[in-house]
Amino acid sequence: MNFRIRSTDGETRRGVLETGRGTINTPAFMPVGTIGTVKAMSPDELKEIGAEIILGNTYHLYLRPGTDVISTLGGLHKFMSWDRPILTDSGGFQVFSLAALRKIEEEGVHFRSHIDGSPHFIGPAEAMKIQGILGSDIAMTFDECISYPADYDYAARSVELTTSWARKCREYQNPGQALFGIVQGGMYKDLRKKSAEDLISIGFDGYAIGGVSVGEPKEEMHEIISFGAPLLPKDRPRYLMGIGDLGDMLKAVDAGFDMFDCVMPTRNARNGTLFTSTGRISIKREEFKYDAGPLDPNCSCHACRNYSRGYLRHLFLSREILSMRLNTIHNLYFYLDFFRQMRQAIEEGGFSRFKETWEQILS
Ligand SMILES: [Zn+2]
Repeated sequence: MNFRIRSTDGETRRGVLETGRGTINTPAFMPVGTIGTVKAMSPDELKEIGAEIILGNTYHLYLRPGTDVISTLGGLHKFMSWDRPILTDSGGFQVFSLAALRKIEEEGVHFRSHIDGSPHFIGPAEAMKIQGILGSDIAMTFDECISYPADYDYAARSVELTTSWARKCREYQNPGQALFGIVQGGMYKDLRKKSAEDLISIGFDGYAIGGVSVGEPKEEMHEIISFGAPLLPKDRPRYLMGIGDLGDMLKAVDAGFDMFDCVMPTRNARNGTLFTSTGRISIKREEFKYDAGPLDPNCSCHACRNYSRGYLRHLFLSREILSMRLNTIHNLYFYLDFFRQMRQAIEEGGFSRFKETWEQILS
C-alpha cells in the first residue's frame, strides 16, 4: 500500500491511496457492505457510481456465513464478486455494541452471538486470522470500544488493553494486507494522545480514530475530531470511523482526515430519507404526490435521470423493492459525488468556500 498527498488546503488533504486492487482517491467515502453486500446494490452498480473501496464487517461475516464458507468460496472479494479494495473492521466495535454477555480478558473477549446466542471468543489473534481469511486489502486492529460516558480510570485501562491488542495484531499482520491502528481513549484528550503515541511507536500503515459518535454530544465529538487528527502521522492515511453526517465529515476533512464509512446513506435510503443538493427530504411527504420533477435536479444518478419524485414516493409508500434500490443508488451517488466535489475544491484551494456553502445548505 502506498499513500501520497497530492495537494493540501490548510490542514485538508487531497491524497491517493494505492492498493494491489486499485486506487482510492481521498478524502474517500466507503460504502458499508456489512455482511458481504452493500444493501440493495450490486457490485457493478457500486462501480458505476464510482465506489473505489467498500467496508466489510468482520464480526458479522464471522458469525454469518462464517469463515469456513468464505474461505471455501475463495475469500470475500470472490465470494461477493467485488474486485476493488475492501477494508474490514476488526469486529471490536460490534462485539462491544451488539453481542451479549461480554467478558473481557487480556487475550480477548468472550461473547454471545446476537443472532443465536452461541458462545464465541475474539481477540487480536482471532481478529487478524479472520481478516486474513476474508482477504481484505486493509485490516483494522482489534480494539475495545468503550461506551459513553466512561469514567477516567476505566478509559485509561482500556487504552492499555487496546495498545497491547494492537501490538499483537501487528505481530500477526497478514502478508500483503495493510493494517491500521485504532486510537481510543473516550472523550479524554490526554488518553487520546497516549493512545496515538502508543500506536505510532508500534507503527502502522494507517491510523484511525475510533470510539466517537457513541452517544456523546456533538460538541464533544467535534472536539475529539479536531484534537485527534493532528495526533496522527501526516504521511499516513487517517480514518475517522463510523462518522457519516455530512456536516461532521466536513469538519473532519477540515481537520485533516482522509477516510470515512457510515451506514447513513444506505440506511436512510431504505427509510425514505434522501440527501439532495438543497438538503434532506423525506420522499413519503404529501407534497411530492404529483411531483413530476427529478428527486434532485443537480444529481445525475440513475434514479434522478429516469424517475419522478411522485413515482419514488409511490414506490416507497407501496414498500416496493425498487424503492430501496433507487433510493440507495441515489444516496450513495450523492455521497460519492459530494466527495468528488470536495476533492476538487481542495485541489483548487477552495475547500473553505465549499465547506461554508454546504454548512449553509445543511443548517
Ligand atoms: Zn440522484
